[in-house]
Amino acid sequence: MLVQVGVALVWAALGWGVGIVLNRLVYQIPRDRPLFEPPTCPHCGARVAAVSLYPLDRCTTCREPTGYDRSEWILAALFAMLAFWFGPTTSLFAHSLYLVALTVLGLIDLRHRYVYTIVSLPTLLGALLLSPLLAGLGIGATILGFTAGALVFAILYVVGRILYHGMEPMGSGDITIAAIIGAMVGFPRVLSALFVGSIASGLFGLAAMVVGGRGRRAFIPYGPGLCLGALVAFFIGP
Ligand SMILES: [Zn+2]
Repeated sequence: MLVQVGVALVWAALGWGVGIVLNRLVYQIPRDRPLFEPPTCPHCGARVAAVSLYPLDRCTTCREPTGYDRSEWILAALFAMLAFWFGPTTSLFAHSLYLVALTVLGLIDLRHRYVYTIVSLPTLLGALLLSPLLAGLGIGATILGFTAGALVFAILYVVGRILYHGMEPMGSGDITIAAIIGAMVGFPRVLSALFVGSIASGLFGLAAMVVGGRGRRAFIPYGPGLCLGALVAFFIGP
């Protein structure tokens, strides 16, 4: 037990550090800014502090909201949970990497409604290579999970376009995210991930409608909900 707590604490600290780096990626990539350049306030150009106690922070110079998402404490908590669940194994390493990739995809999609190939392609390839090595997965479950995820959301996408007369009720990037999740958790866990993810997305959509009024009607941001569904599936036995 003491060893488990120790591993979890070390892993949580790592997750916190990764979160600090990841916040910058999530902020800079959609703004097309260099990753090695410190992020700046969109209103006045002042530097955004890398570490802050406030998750939704305001610029220290002009007091406007910067839109800089801070994920480090959530990641520290989730890293600790993964460490407890998997112990010091290859699965812990792989699922922590998956969590990081899903956080980048989910946070960018939540704010910008966009899935960047520079994030999604390496993630997909990485998952297709890594998952077959993990306990309880194997190459068959990985390929089948990938295919099922892509197929289910491709069908939803086509049906949605027909129902809404060519408008997009969901983004095509959601198909990519569903395929990635399939490759991460494999078959049949991908079905649980997509099911939980769709419920979460529905709740997100409802919240967006309540906050944004009727203007948001048809479009449901599936990406962030699906990432959440995948996270739940991590903790369902393989
Ligand atoms: Zn500012």
